[in-house]
Amino acid sequence: MIAWVGIGANLGQARANVLDALARLALLPDTSVLRASSLYRTAPVDSSGADYINAVACIDTTLAPHALLAALQDIELAHGRERPYRNAPRTLDLDLLLAGDETIATDTLTVPHPRMHERAFVLAPLTEIAPGLEIPGRGPARDFLPLVANQAIARIA
Ligand code: ATP
Ligand code: CA
Ligand code: CA
Repeated sequence: MIAWVGIGANLGQARANVLDALARLALLPDTSVLRASSLYRTAPVDSSGADYINAVACIDTTLAPHALLAALQDIELAHGRERPYRNAPRTLDLDLLLAGDETIATDTLTVPHPRMHERAFVLAPLTEIAPGLEIPGRGPARDFLPLVANQAIARIA
């Protein structure tokens, strides 16, 4: 399965945390990182605190979507992720954006990620590495970029 993972951090060494997350994705069982976007700096959108560092990775994995989510949460925990309240600042956030062309709606996992098309910090890195990507049920990811043009985002590396 080809999966797309959104990475974000705005607590602690945010840039280092994002880079370490990419390294840890590559170490997951039967998983390889096919592509990683540049890093981006964004002002918090739904969240608060310092600016975020964001990136998107494309991985090839044999993990099933729920197992992949659990693996992503393990990586978050390795970075001391806490959830004191909704949308709190975080050392590391890993969202499963897309899992092949699957549509999943369970209590613990919704794919495509239901808010990805509203977020410049997802759409900019995603379309950087996959300009023609379709969001199942919604259409081309790039079609949503104009709708988030008001969200400040800067490519940093
Ligand atoms: P948002 O989902 O709006 O980006 P968030 O990332 O801050 O917010 P979290 O606190 O990290 O939200 O996650 C809350 C729950 O969302 C997780 O426990 C997980 O079960 C659930 N979840 C549902 N769909 C997904 C998905 N596609 N990727 C990651 N988590 C998901
Ligand atoms: Ca998130
Ligand atoms: Ca999350």
